[in-house]
Formats: sequence, C-alpha cells, structure tokens
Amino acid sequence: MSKVLGMKCRECGEMYPVEPLYVCEVCFGPLEIVYDLDSIRQRVSRESIAAGPTSMWRYIDLLPIEGEPTVGKSVGWTPLVHARRLGAELSLNRLYIKNDSVNHPTLSFKDRVVALALSKAREFGFEVVACASTGNLANSVASQAAEGGFQSYVFIPADLEQGKILANLIYGTNVLAVSGNYDEVNRLCSEAAGRYGWAFVNINLRPYYGDGSKTFGYEIAEQLGWRSPDHVIVPCAGGSLISKIYKGLNELFALGLISSVPTKMHAAQATGCNPITHLVKSGAQVLRPVKPNTIAKSIAIGNPADGYFAAETVRRSGGTAEDVSDEEVIEGIRLLGRTEGIFTETAGGVTVAVTKKLAERGVFDREEVVVMAITGNGLKTQEVIMGDARRPTYIQPNLDSLETALRSERLLTGAGFKSAL
Ligand SMILES: *Cc1c(COP(=O)(O)O)cnc(C)c1O
Ligand SMILES: [Zn+2]
Repeated sequence: MSKVLGMKCRECGEMYPVEPLYVCEVCFGPLEIVYDLDSIRQRVSRESIAAGPTSMWRYIDLLPIEGEPTVGKSVGWTPLVHARRLGAELSLNRLYIKNDSVNHPTLSFKDRVVALALSKAREFGFEVVACASTGNLANSVASQAAEGGFQSYVFIPADLEQGKILANLIYGTNVLAVSGNYDEVNRLCSEAAGRYGWAFVNINLRPYYGDGSKTFGYEIAEQLGWRSPDHVIVPCAGGSLISKIYKGLNELFALGLISSVPTKMHAAQATGCNPITHLVKSGAQVLRPVKPNTIAKSIAIGNPADGYFAAETVRRSGGTAEDVSDEEVIEGIRLLGRTEGIFTETAGGVTVAVTKKLAERGVFDREEVVVMAITGNGLKTQEVIMGDARRPTYIQPNLDSLETALRSERLLTGAGFKSAL
C-alpha cells in the first residue's frame, strides 16, 4: 500500500501524481507531498520506529520513497543535548540543542534533505544531480553524489567560505562558482533545470528535498520522550526547514504518536538578510526580497522560495521572528562554544543570538522546553572568527617559561594558582 497520495498545490489545491514536478500547472504555486496518514497509522508505532535504524530512516514510513534508501543511509539521528550551562546563563532550565553540526556525512542538516532527494532521484531514474547552494547544500550533494555514483554539478556564489568550496573539490563534483549572490545562482539554476535533464535537488525535486527536513522535527519529539517542545528556534534561509519541522510535529500528532503540539516556532535570521523576520514583524502579506549582506552566508537568501510559508508557520504556531547583527552572530558562536563545547557555524550563531534575545525579552518561561536548531559546523566558516579569536599563549618547552606565561597572562587561577604558590 502506498504511503503517499500524491502531490498537492499549496496555493490552489490541485492534485498531481508522484513525479519530478514542483510547480502547479494551473497557478504556478509550489507542490507539496500529501501522505496517506490513515494507512500509515496502521503500520507505525513508537515501538516500530524505535526498532528502526539509528538514522533518519527510522521514519521511512513517513518519507516519500517507495523502496529502501539507496543514498545517505547514515544520515540523521543526531544528539539532542540538554544545554545546562547555556541554560543557566539564559535562566532556562530545559534548554536543548538539536545538534546537526555533527550530522553525517557533511556536518549540516542539509544531509537530511539530500539523502531523501537523491534516493528519490534514483527511483525516478536520474543519473545527474545538481543544486543551487549557499554552501552546505553543495557539500552534501557533492558528497552523497559521490557515495551514490551520480554525476553532479553544484552551483554556488563565488564569494563563499573557503572551507565549503574546498570540500566540494575533494568530493570530485563539478563546481560552478557564479559571480553573483544566491538569488542570481538560483535563477540561473531554474533555467538550467529546464534545459538539461538534471535533478536539481532544491528546484525540480524540491517537494522531496523539503520533506527530508521533517526528520529534524521527528527526532526532537522522539528524543524528548515523545513530546513536542514548547519552543523551537530555527535559522531560516529558503524557509523550508522551519515549515517542515512544524509539519513533522503535526504529523506525529495526527498519527497519535504525541499527544499535542503546543510548539511555538521562532524564525531566526541575520539583520543583513531578513526577508522572513521582516515579513513577520511588519505583518505584511507579501514578502519583500532583500539584497543579502551578512557573514551568515549559509542563510543569505534574499528571495526565499518558502518565505511566505515560513512566516505562516510562525504566525500559526504563535511564535515570533527576530534578527541579529553580524557582531551578535559571532558572540552567539562564542557563547555556545564556551558554555556547551559546541563549535557551530554562522547560522548556529544566529540561532543562539536570537534565542538569547528572546530569553531576555521574556518570551520563554523558565521551565518550558526550548530547543535550538544548531544546523551547521563552525569548522566550515572559520574565517569569520579568525580575526577575532583569542591567540594561543606561545611558550618554550620548560617550566620557567610556563610559569612566566601563567603569571603574566593571569592564566593561573583558583586551586591551580594556590598550589603553585
Ligand atoms: C540551508 C541552511 C539553513 C536554512 O534552511 P532553509 O530550509 O533553506 O530555511 C539553516 N542552517 C544552515 C546551516 C543551512 O545550511
Ligand atoms: Zn495551483
């Protein structure tokens, strides 16, 4: 029995069969996968899911592929960390980090969407895969295309962080570095998708790509002991992740796997690229595209494909939207590092800084369950903190040199200082 009923236009409701389609032929609205939840309810339970693999594929009954996954089998099931020390600083007793900075294989949540899109691309019979990317998506497509034996083309803005460019070259993909911002890259790719018969994961396979993000939400609920949190703070680029986390939580409720979804979804962006948070804050109905100017390049999309739906998710859930300066992003990266030992990239810095802002404003109660979406790894965006980071203390290999350094740099503190005296 099929778990998918088809695809539905999010604007006019027209139904389509499961094919590599992404826009409605009637109104040009985006298409979304519709699941047969009655049929799925018959076969999934908390126990059946718990007995599945320790990857995103434990939720295969809720994902739109027909057979077994063929690409990205180890993706997902990342740690949900109780952030006690950061929580203490923010006066939150139940603050959690969903830590996709250690997702396999390329250290960002994008591995989830790509594992699903490439497994589906194989079912559709594609041999060439591609993407328009702000960085992490390119890494994930390149890596998993290599694993799956696809030919691949990744399109990126030419001014991307070195770490993200370098990894692509190692994975042996074809890297097209476009002189332009992401929105120009995306426009080019939309045209290329029409011309070449390639599977652009976030263009013509976008409905499948998007539903990979549902697993981020499923995992949070399961890891909390099958309950939906009170708040989730999500960094937004195209606006897909925030909408799909919420979709995922509501599916778990519809399937009877959790008892309610009290969750407020909060959108986080950098002030230098804030079309979604601006849409929410202004109360407008129509998104106004912006020209990105921020160090948070992985989420620098000025004209987000799912921006309207992201804002709707915030409104419907009763959440908020906030943006932060590049200085606050760097402070956020440092705060998470020094309190929880997690080194996140700029998008994670946005999440932490926005969470801090909302906490200070009293948006959360002390005992509420608050989850921060940490979606990428700091090793990929080192240049943003290089100029800013503390230097090591350089010494000679002898105790005198150590002692001099410890005294002059005031590095001897507490018990260590006393016993040395
Ligand atoms: C792509 C990305 C996001 C946002 O994803 P959307 O679904 O496009 O909103 C957040 N964090 C990181 C690190 C990303 O790479
Ligand atoms: Zn339509």
